[in-house]
Amino acid sequence: MVMVKTQLQHAHDGEITEAMERVAKRENREAAMVRDQVAAGRAVIPNNPAHESLDPAVIGREFATKVNANIGSSRAAETTDAQLQKLRTAVQFGADTVMDLSTAGDLRAIRAAVLSESPIPVGTVPIYEAQERTTAADGLTTDRLFDVIREQARQGVDYMTIHAGILAEHLSLTHERQTGIVSRGGSILARWMDRTGRQNPLYNEFETLCDVFAKHDVTVSLGDGLRPGCLADAGDEAQLAELHTLGELTQTARARGVQVMVEGPGHVPLDQVAWNVEREQEICDGAPFYVLGPLVTDIAPGYDHIASAIGATQAAQAGAAMLCYVTSKEHLGIPETEDVREALAAYRIAAHAADVAAGHPGARDWDDALSQARYEFDWSRQFELAVDPARAREYHSQTHPNGDVGDGRFCSMCGVEFCAMRIDQDRQGQPDIGETNETAGQADAGTANHRAGESILPDTDAAEVNRPPIGTQERICPISANRTSPDEDPEKPDQFAEE
Ligand code: SF4
Repeated sequence: MVMVKTQLQHAHDGEITEAMERVAKRENREAAMVRDQVAAGRAVIPNNPAHESLDPAVIGREFATKVNANIGSSRAAETTDAQLQKLRTAVQFGADTVMDLSTAGDLRAIRAAVLSESPIPVGTVPIYEAQERTTAADGLTTDRLFDVIREQARQGVDYMTIHAGILAEHLSLTHERQTGIVSRGGSILARWMDRTGRQNPLYNEFETLCDVFAKHDVTVSLGDGLRPGCLADAGDEAQLAELHTLGELTQTARARGVQVMVEGPGHVPLDQVAWNVEREQEICDGAPFYVLGPLVTDIAPGYDHIASAIGATQAAQAGAAMLCYVTSKEHLGIPETEDVREALAAYRIAAHAADVAAGHPGARDWDDALSQARYEFDWSRQFELAVDPARAREYHSQTHPNGDVGDGRFCSMCGVEFCAMRIDQDRQGQPDIGETNETAGQADAGTANHRAGESILPDTDAAEVNRPPIGTQERICPISANRTSPDEDPEKPDQFAEE
């Protein structure tokens, strides 16, 4: 049996792993700094060795803010091809991790396909599959839930959301809520505890679970089954009671060598967002905080990607390490490819805005490079640097008098006569290229290039993180060839083959 040491155990032993080297390069940091953050539990590197196509990423408040995209089948859309298409869209538009939340179809096959293709860490919520496997006759059982967790760990899942913090004694605290329990995992476990009169098995057996996670270096993401589902319930007794349990579980997992992050709300008024982050950091001893949104108002069905990106920006600035996107279909229906694209754009902007404010190495270079291209009327460079290049190019071409023009010294927003940047450049003595009759294609090379060559972006090591996401995800991880997996043990039965 090949024993796997987790990234946390390596860090505790003072060792720098290939994954640490790799993420340090991506973040423009020293590998020793990454190791120290992991050792302190302030950063995690979800990195299941069985996920062979993975290019590791680090999640922690000292690093660039990460964005997660959810994909997954439902009764309305259950094909593997559809999920792979969403995965490709998520990777193309800059997701740092993806969660496969499939609840219908062949869940193992969908997950295998996603793991096979994904260069970014893959997370799951195992209770969904355990619930999907239940029948009316036998219901959800602890054994089934644990079997699913073991299978998913062996399959290569990098991190799992485990709702171990919702306890039987917390349930009465939700009775006065406006929207009750809105977490799928939380509601399933609450119903199970009500029916059986027993404690949450994920809590009771948490140490056993941690041994499974440690064996496969699965990062545990402690789910918030009692997160508020509306502003009225934000920060209530139920939410905080669960958070204190998550703080206890954080210490248990770390003591068993398991990397831990903690999940947070949900729906939070804007003035309480930073407070939520600070409470989590305090109670969970600095564990990376992974927030869903949060939505800062409940009035925006159809626009919840915007309502939540506002809260996400605030959360990231306050120290949240990863943002789970919310799409415009939230509360309304399952998102499709275009919804994934738009939500990722919103969340990449939220994450980057916070990174600029935090002064992460190289973050501002992206803004400066785009602004330089804008002032130089270097449209091709502007499009290349845009968070969604295809969208920027499309919008520019739609209303430009000459269509898809790459070098005009104006756009249709102000028009050629009122283009402020052109007027200002000419005012400063740039070569006169016509006061009112300039058309696309007559741009002055001397003006356009007056600051050419000054961009620091191409020379910055951090650019891989901070440049537009398009094309920055390598399909093949440079270190994956050296991976070993506990599943390489020839004496170990292949459970999937048996089934
Ligand atoms: S026309 Fe207006 S919006 Fe367009 S480039 Fe000039 S100043 Fe900017």
